[in-house]
Amino acid sequence: MTHTAILGAGVCGLAAGMRLADAGEPVTLVEAQHFVGGLAATLRGATGAGFDWGPHAYHARNPRVLDMFKEIASDGFPAQPKNVRIKFRGRYYKYPLEAMDMARTMSPVLAVRAFVDYFSEQIRKRIAPRPLRSAEDWVVNAMGRTLYNLFFGPYTEKVWGVHPSKLAASFAQHRIPHISLIKVVLSSIRKGYAKRTGTEHRYAPLVIELFYPPKGAGLVSERMAERIRGRGGKVVTGALVTGIDAHEGRVTGVRYRRVGTSDVPAVGQLGMMASGREKDTPRHLPWTPGETEERIACDRIVNTLPLPVLIELLGDAASPEAREAAAMLRFRPITILGLRVKRVRCLPAQSIYFQDKTFTRLSETRHYGGSAICAPDETVLLCDITCDLNGRIWSATAEELADVIGAELAAEGFLTREEIAEAVVLRSTMGYPVYVVDYERAIDTLMQELGRFENLVTGGRQGLYKYVDMDIASEMGLAMADHFLSGKTKREAIGGVPYEDRAFA
Ligand SMILES: Cc1cc2nc3c(=O)[nH]c(=O)nc-3n(C[C@H](O)[C@H](O)[C@H](O)COP(=O)(O)OP(=O)(O)OC[C@H]3O[C@@H](n4cnc5c(N)ncnc54)[C@H](O)[C@@H]3O)c2cc1C
Repeated sequence: MTHTAILGAGVCGLAAGMRLADAGEPVTLVEAQHFVGGLAATLRGATGAGFDWGPHAYHARNPRVLDMFKEIASDGFPAQPKNVRIKFRGRYYKYPLEAMDMARTMSPVLAVRAFVDYFSEQIRKRIAPRPLRSAEDWVVNAMGRTLYNLFFGPYTEKVWGVHPSKLAASFAQHRIPHISLIKVVLSSIRKGYAKRTGTEHRYAPLVIELFYPPKGAGLVSERMAERIRGRGGKVVTGALVTGIDAHEGRVTGVRYRRVGTSDVPAVGQLGMMASGREKDTPRHLPWTPGETEERIACDRIVNTLPLPVLIELLGDAASPEAREAAAMLRFRPITILGLRVKRVRCLPAQSIYFQDKTFTRLSETRHYGGSAICAPDETVLLCDITCDLNGRIWSATAEELADVIGAELAAEGFLTREEIAEAVVLRSTMGYPVYVVDYERAIDTLMQELGRFENLVTGGRQGLYKYVDMDIASEMGLAMADHFLSGKTKREAIGGVPYEDRAFA
């Protein structure tokens, strides 16, 4: 039998493992954390209330993936219409932006300026088209400078910590559902699923309907792991991958060290995801990897660990050019502050984006369908904060963040500080892959390099360095398993497929 080692037990690794195990193949998943699900896990606080890494609502345009989620959570997966807002200069806007909403809530002068600007940009790009290299070029080209300056520019800089002129154009293309104002207008005059103009990028679909298990998003991953174990597969947690053995272009084994949990009760940290390959050791990481390195022999590997980490783990088996290219790729860390609040309901929407707060997005899990996420007379709020590794936010305790953010929420009228019954933090050094201008060159080198390893595939949000949601990460896991089951060579499967369209490499 052919034994597959799967590195990482997030939804991507779990989907790959489940597909292979269902086909009767032996699999071993190796996961650093003591829980499964990666970014899609739900961790439990002092009273059992659930905290996600930002609320993880399920959606998928691919029916195979949506049906898989629905089958796994068949005993409770209620659908909710998406209801997300942006709070900007004291007013609420729908997210994604809607034309009438913008026109109604903006000052008439600003609205006229935005529309004039948009139409002059449309004429200019026909007369004198410019190359679209950065995210700034792309959004200005599509929406005009006024809307860029108002919403996109400042927000992107806050989230990513770099100016949009330094981010690649593909970043905007991948992440903004309606990049063109004309599509914003078209979408605004339609209702429900008809809102989709059909031209959205597949990584940035216009989400109309969301699904969420009542006790937390993590249920889906836990059930996937149970199914793998039930089919004879192994899911080894608390095992930090420290090396990959390769010989003449074939991988032969995975080395790992045992690690403790990444929760630190003293600072209110429920968990921290780290690869063990960060340039600086993350603060509040209590791991001391075990002294002995253990080894799993395997016939093939499915990797879902960050792409640059994979190249490092290959050691000398990777070329110096690949190692140099991998060093260009980086991830933006995240800190999620979770609050258990003594109120039944705090927010007027599922999530609200802010530009002027410590956090970028504030969410209430109950509104996504998390009806049993905590006691009925309480609610759970999640505040997403992108941050620098070991910076002020990263180093703060949950209580320190609750003081600052509690005051911001109180000023908005969402709660009082006294109503915060519990504050916790969840951290990850690999929140978002950063698409810096020209990162595609590094990717080209790495795609070529990985083509040399016939029995190693890589995919997922971290493993393919793509800013995707759970549906696409799961689709990638299924595609990697399908590939191995098909017996095709990599060249046959993805030889002519550009990186942009690849589900794995
Ligand atoms: C704030 C936020 C909110 C989001 N909200 C949504 C949402 O509402 N809906 C949605 O569909 N998607 C959402 N996403 C995206 C979603 O989280 C991801 O697309 C998906 O979870 C990625 O799954 P993955 O398996 O590819 O990666 P991950 O979940 O990152 O899994 C990688 C795994 O590898 C493990 N690992 C890393 N290094 C090592 C090592 N050295 N040894 C062993 N194991 C290691 C990690 O611990 C982790 O478990 C959100 C993402 C963020 C950051």
